[in-house]
Amino acid sequence: MLGLMQEWPLLCHKLIDHAALQHGDREIISRSIEGPIVRTNYGELRSRSLKVAQRLERDGFGLGDRIATLAWNTARHLEAWYGIMGIGAVYHTLNPRLFPEQILWIMNHAEDRAVFVDLTFLPLIEKVAGGVKSLKQVIVLTDKAHMPATSLPNAVAYEEWLGEADGDFAWKSFDENTAAGMCYTSGTTGDPKGVLYSHRSNVLHAMIACMPDAMGISSRDVVLPVVPMFHANAWGLGQSALMIGAKLVMPGGKMDGASIYELLDSEKVTFTAAVPTVWLMLLQHLEETGKKLPHLKKVVIGGSACPRAMTQKFQDNYGVEVIHAWGMTEMSPLGTLGTMKPVHDGLEGNARLDVQQKQGHAPFGVEMKVTDDNNVDRPWDGKTFGRLKVRGPAVARAYYGGAGKEQFDEEGWFDTGDVAHIDASGYMQITDRAKDVIKSGGEWISTIDIENLAVGHPDVAEAAVIGVAHPKWDERPLLVVVRKAGKEPSKDDILGYMNGKIAKWWMPDDVAFVAEIPHTATGKIQKTTLRQQFQDYRLPTA
Ligand code: ADP
Repeated sequence: MLGLMQEWPLLCHKLIDHAALQHGDREIISRSIEGPIVRTNYGELRSRSLKVAQRLERDGFGLGDRIATLAWNTARHLEAWYGIMGIGAVYHTLNPRLFPEQILWIMNHAEDRAVFVDLTFLPLIEKVAGGVKSLKQVIVLTDKAHMPATSLPNAVAYEEWLGEADGDFAWKSFDENTAAGMCYTSGTTGDPKGVLYSHRSNVLHAMIACMPDAMGISSRDVVLPVVPMFHANAWGLGQSALMIGAKLVMPGGKMDGASIYELLDSEKVTFTAAVPTVWLMLLQHLEETGKKLPHLKKVVIGGSACPRAMTQKFQDNYGVEVIHAWGMTEMSPLGTLGTMKPVHDGLEGNARLDVQQKQGHAPFGVEMKVTDDNNVDRPWDGKTFGRLKVRGPAVARAYYGGAGKEQFDEEGWFDTGDVAHIDASGYMQITDRAKDVIKSGGEWISTIDIENLAVGHPDVAEAAVIGVAHPKWDERPLLVVVRKAGKEPSKDDILGYMNGKIAKWWMPDDVAFVAEIPHTATGKIQKTTLRQQFQDYRLPTA
C-alpha cells in the first residue's frame, strides 16, 4: 500500500522561492570583485536568478547542459547557480587554484557549454577557452563600465546580458534526481574525477547541514561562507542559508585576516566556515591588532584537520565555539561534525579538546563504517583504525564518466580513501589518507597524529610526515618542518618536545627543514610531491 502524501519533488529552485517568500528582505552582502561592498536580498536574488534562467534559455541552453562558473563567493555567483539550475542545466564550479592545463582538461571532460567568470579569472579563461570545443559563451560577472577588453569573441558583460531579460519566467520542472551541480575532485592522484549532484541530493544535504547537531544555523544567523563555492559547494551553505533564510555575507576574493575580520565585525557575523589556513590568517591578525570577536558564535573548520591549538584559541581567547568537520566533494560534502553529545556534558579543558580533535559524528543521512582491507567491519572502540566507508542520499554513487569504479561496492558503500577510527559514541577520527599511512614493520602509523603534535611546538609553522624506505622496517616516518619566521628550532628541540606524547615507535626517525611545503589547490599538503622531493633521502637510522 502506498502512502497518500503529495509528490513534491525536491528541486533547488524551491529553496530560492522559499527564501524570497519567507525571508525576502533578508540581506546578502558581497565584497564585490570591483571593490565596494554591495547589498541585495533574497527577493532580489530570486528575481535576478529568474532573469539568468530566462536569458540562458534564450541563448539556447537547457536541460543537462553543463554551465561552468569560475568565480569567488558573491551574490552574482549565487544567482547564476540558481538561474542555471532553474532551467535544469548543471552548474559546474571550477577551482581557479588549479593549473590552466587541469582546468582545460576538466572543462573538456565536462563539456561545458558556457562559463560565468569573475574579472579576476578572465585571463585564465582566455588561456583555456580556445581549447574547449563545447564552449559557446563566456559571461563576465561584471557590468559594462568594468568590462575589460578581451581576446574572447564570445564574451559578454553579465549585467548587460541580464538587462535583456525581464524575469517573466517560470522555473522548469523535472525529476528531482536531475543533475543540478558538478564539481571535480582535485585529483592529487591521477585525473580529476567529476561528482554530479542532483536536485534531490542538494536539498537533502542542505537540510542535513542545518540540523542543530550539524551546523545548526537558523534565520537569526548571519552566515559568512569563507569556504569558496568552488570548494565542494561552499560546504552546502549556498543552499542551506536559503533554506532557513540566514543573512549571507559573501567574501568575494579577499580571504586575508584583515578583510575577513572587517566583514565579521561590520556585518555582525554569527556563523562562519573555512579551512584551517584561513583561520590561521585571521587568528594572526587578531593577535597582532588585539581585536576581539564579539558577534561570532560558531566556526566550522574542516577540509583538513583542525589543529588543537586553533580550537583552543577560538574558544578560550575569543569565546567562539569550534565545530570540527570532515567531508569530501563526493559527499556534497558534509560527512561528520564535532558537535557535543550529552555524554560529553561537563567536559572542560583538555578533555573537551580531545573530543574536538576528532572529526565528529555523522548526522542522519550519513552512514559510516571502518573496515580492514578485506571489507570486514572493525569495532567502534576509538582506536582500531581502518578504511572509512560511507553511504547516504547525498553521497556519490559513481563518478561522472565512470572513473574510479573500484571505490564503490555493490552494497552502495563508497570508500573515502581515508583511514579512521570510530569510538563508542560514534565520533570518527581521521588518522590518515590510505595512500599516506606509513606501514612500519607490518603496523600502521598515522601521519596526521604526528603532524598535529609537531605543529604544537611554538616555533613550528607547518609540518608534514611521510614514509621513507627503511631496510628493516619497510618504512619509517620522516618529519618535514617549516620553521616560523625568525625561529631556529633544532631537530632535537622538536623531537624532545614530541617525546612521550606519542608511542615511541611512532617517533620520526629524522627531521628535515624546508622553506615551504607543497599544497594542493584545496590547501591540503601534497604528499605525492613531497615524497618525490625526498625520494633519494636516506634516514640516519637506515
Ligand atoms: P580535494 O581537496 O581532494 O578536492 P575534498 O576537498 O573533497 O577533495 O577533500 C576531501 C578529503 O579532505 C577527505 O577525504 C579527507 O582526507 C580530507 N579532510 C576533510 N576534512 C578533514 C578534516 N577535518 N580532518 C582531516 N582531513 C580532512
